[in-house]
Amino acid sequence: MIFDTIIIGAGAAGLLCAKFLKGTYIILERDQRPARKVLISGGGCCNFTNKNVASEHYYSQNAHFCKSALAQFSWEDAIALFSRAGISYEERDHGKLFSSDAKQFANYLQAGANIAFKISISSIERTEEWWTIHCGYGTDFRCRHLVIATGGLSYPELGISDFGYRFAEQLGVAVEPLAPALVRLDFPGNMRKNFAKLAGISLPAAVTVGDRTIMDEVLFTHYGLSGPAMLTASLWWQADTSLRINWLPKIDLKKIIADHRSQRVKDILTNLLPKRLGEIFSKGHDRPLANMSKGEIDTLVGQLTQFTFIPEHVAGYRKAEVTRGGISTRFLLSKTMAVKHIPNVYFVGEVVDVTGELGGYNLHWAWASAVAAAKAIDDNVGHR
Ligand SMILES: Cc1cc2nc3c(=O)[nH]c(=O)nc-3n(C[C@H](O)[C@H](O)[C@H](O)COP(=O)(O)OP(=O)(O)OC[C@H]3O[C@@H](n4cnc5c(N)ncnc54)[C@H](O)[C@@H]3O)c2cc1C
Repeated sequence: MIFDTIIIGAGAAGLLCAKFLKGTYIILERDQRPARKVLISGGGCCNFTNKNVASEHYYSQNAHFCKSALAQFSWEDAIALFSRAGISYEERDHGKLFSSDAKQFANYLQAGANIAFKISISSIERTEEWWTIHCGYGTDFRCRHLVIATGGLSYPELGISDFGYRFAEQLGVAVEPLAPALVRLDFPGNMRKNFAKLAGISLPAAVTVGDRTIMDEVLFTHYGLSGPAMLTASLWWQADTSLRINWLPKIDLKKIIADHRSQRVKDILTNLLPKRLGEIFSKGHDRPLANMSKGEIDTLVGQLTQFTFIPEHVAGYRKAEVTRGGISTRFLLSKTMAVKHIPNVYFVGEVVDVTGELGGYNLHWAWASAVAAAKAIDDNVGHR
């Protein structure tokens, strides 16, 4: 079977790429259903883009690479496209745009798409201007343009594979180191016991990782810290480095201390923080502030506003929303997502070394990179 384009992977990027193609195409999908991650995204409501989409919200070895694709498909373009398809949306905190039901996205993306399911690719060959995809049982697919949209390694139960990374290596395209991201960061062993009893508590905090500070909710779990602020921090965190948390980012603690010198530390902290967290920080300080030395007060303020620790690790791919790293952008053209040294092969979506923060940035990258590749293919097919 011969097509202008073959797309491997019927996820967010592969399906949207197909929507923009003018020539003939088929999507080859190893699972029996399309868009499985879209369906569970945003807790079933699909946080499909963000009003703050810009390169600084993406992790990549080349921070500038994503700019061209993002410029070709903005968050306004995403709204316009999906609104035309009858999908309604609402804005939530930090510019996040959610639909009311991720099924609407999955239905729109797969409607009319030419998809072959349960495909097991055994090899891919390039001869002259053709790509031949061998799928066992003598089934071969041929095309001029090949788009790899096979996603990352997170949520293994959803039929993920490392196909895209292996194929890149076959092409001589480097893969930047892979790691789970947008995931819980675990306490080192000595802290776990002390903080495990806080599991379930969530509070706004300012988390500093490297030169970034993220203001959002932090959630205590039995193993470490999660919640939106920590998930985004996990994207920027490098192993064996420390994190700093200000548990009272919106409070002038020095003023409170000056104004409440007759009060017990415990009473002040259990008022300012969730009770159990306040109790942990006031341990050993069960007396009025006036009875504490300046040094003791400074230490306490430091613990509350510059709480620093080195996480043991990030939780694994089973819990991670995305895979950080991927196809090296050094080998791709940023305008088209095409491989520089081999004609007519493109990598789009999460498989590429462009990983967004929490908040709709990853689906937006899937859309934008897919549209960039589709436009380039359309120009090329049109000129044949
Ligand atoms: C729980 C969860 C919630 C999320 N929520 C959000 C959110 O609200 N907002 C947001 O922006 N991002 C969210 N994400 C991330 C987002 O879903 C992904 O970044 C996005 O789906 C990536 O799109 P993709 O098309 O590149 O890859 P995928 O959507 O993963 O699609 C890849 C496709 O390729 C197929 N495939 C893999 N290997 C092969 C092969 N060998 N042959 C054929 N097919 C293959 C897979 O089966 C899959 O269908 C979430 C992720 C998770 C896990």
